Amino acid sequence: MRGVVLHGSHDVRVEERPDPVVEQPTDAVLRLVASCVCGSDLWSYRGTDAVRRPSPMGHEYVGVVEQVGDDVRDVRVGDLVVGSFFASDNTCEICLAGYQSRCVHKVPMGALGAQAERLRVPLADGTLVVVPGDPTPAQLKGLLAASDVLGTGWFAAVAAEAGPGRTVAVVGDGAVGLLGVLAARRLGAERVIAMSRHADRQALARRFGATDIVTERGDEGVARVKELTGGLGAHSVIEAVGTQEAMMQAIRSTRPGGHVGFVGVSHGVEIPGLELFASGVHLHGGPAPVRRFLPELVDLVMRDEIDAGAVFDLTLPLERAAEAYAAMDERRATKVMLTF
Ligand SMILES: [Zn+2]
Repeated sequence: MRGVVLHGSHDVRVEERPDPVVEQPTDAVLRLVASCVCGSDLWSYRGTDAVRRPSPMGHEYVGVVEQVGDDVRDVRVGDLVVGSFFASDNTCEICLAGYQSRCVHKVPMGALGAQAERLRVPLADGTLVVVPGDPTPAQLKGLLAASDVLGTGWFAAVAAEAGPGRTVAVVGDGAVGLLGVLAARRLGAERVIAMSRHADRQALARRFGATDIVTERGDEGVARVKELTGGLGAHSVIEAVGTQEAMMQAIRSTRPGGHVGFVGVSHGVEIPGLELFASGVHLHGGPAPVRRFLPELVDLVMRDEIDAGAVFDLTLPLERAAEAYAAMDERRATKVMLTF
């Protein structure tokens, strides 16, 4: 099969990879219908995360089940399914508590490489959600978003306790931040402040329900959020970047007693202990347990209640994956879908 392999910084190749097969009785093998490039893939593409050996890439996927192991019960050959970036059993205590991305049996899907024609999914019954019906092209994009960026933005909004009567600020205007805006509004937030300096992303944030746009960053951004919230700061802040500046901007934009939901993959972030102590804010985040939200998100997408697929502003065939990475790296595209 054809699949994306990252050989080093800025060196994306589409090459022959071995066809995956059922290895464990709980596995399924999918023929993928759509995949995409993640903002988090850029950490290794840019060389921020070292690439020590040629690595298969991709952890977002919608596909049709082609084979199942003997112990798979809930998904069948021919089903259209969505999963997320960790395979999980969905039965252990951690999963049952809603933290499937930290399942005691978790398997990172990125290591298996979902930017490929086929994908082996471990723990298929726990990981995959069956899509009812036949999605339209827009719904397919929404399902692909649900696989990671929508699920992650949704978790961030839940972790930040977005809800009725709340003002939510969102740090980061990538796909996750933008979908965090959508999630915050769906969860009932009254006011959503999107922090973005890019006109196209501001427009999408507005479409997803942002009520205010703040273009300043760092301390100036914090000052603007405080100005908009009577000097107090937001009740809820989503951090969807993963840098020191973004994390501190998020904490400082939150009012005492408020909540920060952080989902940007942390790179070199160090939080000063005394400042955190004095802030009185709640911090909750980490790798989003997308599986917790996936059934609801699939349902919202298939009923056209949300248009999460609008984050995909470029679609390319798998063979042109290198262009997809470059477009996202250079911020010419917010999110690129790969088709087969
Ligand atoms: Zn589990």
